[in-house]
Order: sequence, then structure tokens, then C-alpha cells
Amino acid sequence: MNSDLERLIELEKVDREVARLSDEVAALPKRVAAIEEKLAEHKAAVEKAKTRIKSNEAGRRQLEADIKGLQEKIAKYRSQSSSVKTNEEYRALMHEVDFAEKQISSCEDKILELMISLESDEKSLKQAEVDLKAESADVEKEKAETRVRTAEDEKLLTGLGEKRSTLRSSVDDSALAHYDRVMRQRKSAISEAREQKCLACFVMLRPQTWQEIRTNEQIVTCSSCGRILYFDPANEAPPPEPPKRKAKPRAVEADAEPEGETSTAAENETAPAAETTPAQ
Ligand SMILES: [Zn+2]
Repeated sequence: MNSDLERLIELEKVDREVARLSDEVAALPKRVAAIEEKLAEHKAAVEKAKTRIKSNEAGRRQLEADIKGLQEKIAKYRSQSSSVKTNEEYRALMHEVDFAEKQISSCEDKILELMISLESDEKSLKQAEVDLKAESADVEKEKAETRVRTAEDEKLLTGLGEKRSTLRSSVDDSALAHYDRVMRQRKSAISEAREQKCLACFVMLRPQTWQEIRTNEQIVTCSSCGRILYFDPANEAPPPEPPKRKAKPRAVEADAEPEGETSTAAENETAPAAETTPAQ
């Protein structure tokens, strides 16, 4: 193979790997940011559950204070009732007592409701704390993995950078310039040619170009996409055999044995010599 062609093929592999690793290194901080955002959501859930519990407790304290105040009122009304002069005044006081008792009862209902919702709030807090703990551990693990991966990628990139410089310095300038131009425009600069086509743009190649590519002895570019073309004999399609196989030996035998043994040879193409010799 032409040595420039060989190096350019290698250079493209290196360039692709450099691009892949660079993308990966660039994407890693974004991944960390995303998982930290998720962690923040868990922290917020814990804070929310704590706030709900606090306001529940404050509400209960307020209701208990209200009840205490109402009980004091009732006691005051009852003590006043012993010194009232008229039935009217007495009924009015009893009405106040009745009203305060109803308010106490309503406060007690609310306290009961708060106690029930406190139970579920405490459950959600516990769950949120468990989730946060698990998530924190995951985040630390992911961050550590990201740091390791970044360091590995950067090390690989350094090695590839050196390899890249070596390859580039050993390739012919004009071939390299062509490679760079196509690479900039198309993100790939090399393509395999197979079955007389460029495998990147699928344009049909002229027979003469195809013959040149098949030797791999020069830099040939695709007339359509500009990529540098190479040929891999391992990927060459096997010639369409079965129908021709019978025809070929017949023709050979016909030339070699003009005496008229052709039909025998065609029928036994695997061992035509063995069959025809005793017949003569
Ligand atoms: Zn092409």
C-alpha cells in the first residue's frame, strides 16, 4: 500500500478517536451537573417535609393555646354566673360558655387532624432522608468515576496527540492538506471503495479510477465527496459463481478435447480428467 495512504487511514482513526474522547471529556461535567441537580431536588424534598412538620407543630401549639384561653374564659363565666342578678344575664353567660365549649371542641378536632397529618409528614420526611442518603452516595460514586474517566481520557488524548503529530509529519504536504480540507467539511476524510462505489457517498466510480483504487498504490479521491479512497480486498464481493462454473470447464474442455468429449466433461466437472481419460 502507498505509505501516505496507509498513514492517512491511520491518521483518520486517530482523529476520530480524538474527537470521540474530546466529546466525552466535554460531556462529563454536564453529567455531574445533572446528577447534582437531582441531588438538590432530594435536598429540597427533605427541607419541604421538615417545614411541613414545623408548621404542623406550630399550628398545634396555637390551637392548644386557644383551648387554654377558652377554658379560662369558661372558668371566668362560671364564676361570674354565681353573682348574676337576673335569669337573662345567667342565660347570656351560659350561652357564652356553650359557645366557648363548641370552639374548644372544634380546636380539638383540628388538633386531631394535625396529629394524623403529622404521622404522614414524618413518614415522608423519613423517606426523603433515605432517598437523599442513597442519592448522595450515588453522586459521590458518579463524581469519582467521572474524575477517573476524565483523567484516563486526557491521558489517552495526550498519547493520541503525539501519535497524530508523528503521522502528520510523515505524510506528503499536499495529501495532508487535502485530508484536512475534507475532514473540516465532512468530519471524515477517508472512505473505503467497494463494488466500484465510494462507501461514504455511494457514487459510482469510473472504471479507470476503480482500477487505480484497487492497487492502493496512489492517493485517489472520490470525484463526488472528495474523500480519499482505499480498497480492502477482504471486503471484495465473491464473483457470482454458480451459473458460470458449469460453463467454464465446458469451454476449457472443449478447447482441450476437440474430439467430442465435451458433454461428459460438462456433466462431471469435479473430475473431468478421470472421466475422460478411460473413455479415450
Ligand atoms: Zn464519495
